[in-house]
Amino acid sequence: MKAIILFGAPGSGKGTVAERIKAVTGYIHISTGDMLRAAVKNGTAVGREAEAYMKRGELVPDEVIIKLVEERLDKGGPEDLYMFDGFPRTVPQSELLEKSLGRRGGKVTHVLFLDTPRDVLLQRLTGRRTCRKCGWNCHIVNLPPKKSGICNLCGGELYQRPDDQEATIVNRLEVYNKQTESLIARYDRQKVLVKVNSNQKVDKLVEDIRQILK
Ligand code: AMP
Repeated sequence: MKAIILFGAPGSGKGTVAERIKAVTGYIHISTGDMLRAAVKNGTAVGREAEAYMKRGELVPDEVIIKLVEERLDKGGPEDLYMFDGFPRTVPQSELLEKSLGRRGGKVTHVLFLDTPRDVLLQRLTGRRTCRKCGWNCHIVNLPPKKSGICNLCGGELYQRPDDQEATIVNRLEVYNKQTESLIARYDRQKVLVKVNSNQKVDKLVEDIRQILK
């Protein structure tokens, strides 16, 4: 069981890159943000606990996240390749991940840090729209839908996630930076951190990552 971690601030392109990497490699994509949104939508116990934190742009408590990820890894096999997106966000989460993978004979092989300037992050996040029905993401400027307000994939209504509104975004970025400084340093010390320039065309970015993973 091997794992890579896609690491980068909200808006750094983690989700898009993950989809593309998933399409061209055998990595299984695990996004804790997607798992939490599904839990909120389905009204599960985890969802009810996580919802208020998510609305405020704060991190959901480690215990909740750890439980989600453990449950997912329990379903996996020894040959699985995992690509984590939005996890770990804190040092305790990263320690737990190492222990969990270690117990299963696995490890983190690469931490890909998607390096993006702050003004680019803000522009990307405030313009993001998400489909209420299927979760498809687009951007009002960078990747506009064919029909304004309507999902290209399923015809559902596009909306702005409450945590994509500007005040929340500023808070999310601040929380992200504060919480992840020590994580980045940790992975750097472990010599698994790789910085990737995320302020470039997505095709080039995906190709850069493929080369790194080879
Ligand atoms: P994301 O889609 O990764 O930006 O996550 C959306 C929100 O879900 C975050 O702002 C947090 O409130 C919560 N979240 C997602 N992943 C984690 C995590 N690993 N640890 C704590 N909170 C998380």
